[in-house]
Amino acid sequence: MVVGNGIAAMRTLEALVSRVPWRYEVTVIGAEPHPNYNRILLSSVLAGERTIGEIVTHAQAWYAEHGVRLHTGNPVTAIDRTANTVSIAGTGAAVPYDKLLLATGSKPLAPPIPGLDLPDVCAFRDLADTEAMISASKRHRRAIVIGGGLLGLEAAWGLRRRGMVVAVVHLMPTLMERQLDMVAGEMLRSSAAKVSKACSSLTGGRSPATWWSSRSASDRTSIWRPLPGSTSIAASWSATTCARATLKSMRSASALSITAKSSA
Ligand SMILES: Cc1cc2nc3c(=O)[nH]c(=O)nc-3n(C[C@H](O)[C@H](O)[C@H](O)COP(=O)(O)OP(=O)(O)OC[C@H]3O[C@@H](n4cnc5c(N)ncnc54)[C@H](O)[C@@H]3O)c2cc1C
Repeated sequence: MVVGNGIAAMRTLEALVSRVPWRYEVTVIGAEPHPNYNRILLSSVLAGERTIGEIVTHAQAWYAEHGVRLHTGNPVTAIDRTANTVSIAGTGAAVPYDKLLLATGSKPLAPPIPGLDLPDVCAFRDLADTEAMISASKRHRRAIVIGGGLLGLEAAWGLRRRGMVVAVVHLMPTLMERQLDMVAGEMLRSSAAKVSKACSSLTGGRSPATWWSSRSASDRTSIWRPLPGSTSIAASWSATTCARATLKSMRSASALSITAKSSA
């Protein structure tokens, strides 16, 4: 039995069915309601460059063809190692196994701040997050991305391609500081601002809340100058580089508010 239906699970299954086809009775339990898809390509779905169908790597038919039972849409909630069973949420069923492989991936690191549960605030990890951002881009005009690493910038680019004005709030002095030195990070910031006309806002090493409160009212307003009027924000944070912003502080600031109301 395999718990999780991501890339790691599928690579294992592919090896299994090619080396010892039909030797094992395999069940895969995935929390997401989809067969396997290429998570890395979510950015291109967000940017409108690919459809969801185009990033599915293993359709339902693949599982059936190789005798693999697939349960989707409900997570495993408990493992009983004495009885060798797992419980699946929503079914009440205890499913037996002989060998259990956990391939459950990781969860986005969410900043421990108030406001995470507000509507239109999400992480960028799976198809549901991507669909939520696409939906928000149709209802709102402005987005904040917390985290200026690779994933944050991909999210910013995708939202920009969806017509939003995007501000990236990043804890470090330059973008993608894990991959780029300061000169290259600054070049990236200035070319990203030119190419996308998005606002890249850096906090210079201060927490975004401190950075935000230190800016003048006109400075704050200028972040949103490209599109006056609207103050609704879809915020997301990247899974890998999560700036320590406080949404609460930013929400109370004069030029910004995080709200579920449509403003477009
Ligand atoms: C937008 C984006 C872009 C990325 N780009 C890159 C890149 O360019 N290069 C790179 O190397 N990496 C990239 N990554 C990271 C990469 O996608 C992950 O490292 C990889 O997906 C990890 O694979 P995995 O199978 O271990 O976990 P996952 O792909 O996370 O799959 C785990 C699955 O297990 C499911 N699950 C979790 N708990 C349970 C449970 N209790 N019961 C049942 N199912 C459960 C989850 O819902 C998920 O579907 C990117 C990630 C994102 C989000």
